Amino acid sequence: MRNQRKDKQLNRKTLLNSGAVFISELVKLCKASAINPDVTEALITEVLHSIFFLGHIHESAQCKPIVPQDFFTSEETYESFLKDFPKAFEQYCSFLPTRTPFSILLEVVTKMTECSDHSAVLKKLGDFCNAMAAKEIDDQYRNCYTLRSTVVSTCNFQDETGKSSSVYYGASLSCSGKVETKIMIALSCIHTWDDAVAHAVQNGENGAFLQLPDGVKCRAYKWNPTTGDFMEEPPCEKCHRIFRNINYQPEYTESDKTAQWHYGNCAETECLSHLLRGEEKVKSETVAYHLNEEQAVDKAEIMKKLKKRTAEWLRSRGFRITADEIHSRFFHAN
Ligand SMILES: [Zn+2]
Repeated sequence: MRNQRKDKQLNRKTLLNSGAVFISELVKLCKASAINPDVTEALITEVLHSIFFLGHIHESAQCKPIVPQDFFTSEETYESFLKDFPKAFEQYCSFLPTRTPFSILLEVVTKMTECSDHSAVLKKLGDFCNAMAAKEIDDQYRNCYTLRSTVVSTCNFQDETGKSSSVYYGASLSCSGKVETKIMIALSCIHTWDDAVAHAVQNGENGAFLQLPDGVKCRAYKWNPTTGDFMEEPPCEKCHRIFRNINYQPEYTESDKTAQWHYGNCAETECLSHLLRGEEKVKSETVAYHLNEEQAVDKAEIMKKLKKRTAEWLRSRGFRITADEIHSRFFHAN
């Protein structure tokens, strides 16, 4: 019991620290970039909102609320962020994020870098993760609650003529806690991800999967804290099961290890969703299955079940909302 309480306290401390470091590193990165300041202002607002929201729904916040101020080391910095990005401070406990802070960072980095050059993107992300890790408290507790994603993945589509699509990116879910991850996956299925991806994620446990057309390649890279680089990583059994006919590199290898995470937690989910949204041909040729039978994606049915559960999870973490309100309560930075 005492240990559990200690773990919760530690998680709270590491979340606050990780949030503070994430914010300062992101601002530094945006300032050094050539991205239009209006665009970076919206992206920083979105990151702040997402971080404050994760603080608000954190387990420990139910006893001792986590407020935006807790993520800033001085009153002065807090005041200046409040002045520059007021919307994030006003809406973190009434509006819902559509993605995690790291997914927003991925957009910043792909805007700064030539998207097709995945090594340049990974290098920038690696630098960001290294800068964060260097400022995170206590080595041994580094992974208690970090807003860093551990895995980033890329995918693209090559048609029969050999023409390749753009490269799409995705990050693994960068939040912690059973309820938090369920909430972020659910919000992504409701709002952010492609419908077919939402179908596979939500019904994967009951045998749903997607059959993609020939020509889809997917690569995953895991950040290695020792070397500070992203190293190639094979897909997990869950992704291998729900996203089929993909040329994964490295290939999937069967092992005794079972994936402890939820369907939808992996980087492949976000990057395949971007691919389906961006490539008409892939979208129209992807077939959804349920227990080996072709099945039309029933988004209305998924939403009905999901919104009710999501509203319950949110309310259990002090976020007041009903199932019917979810659709109109997504945060927009502009
Ligand atoms: Zn996976």
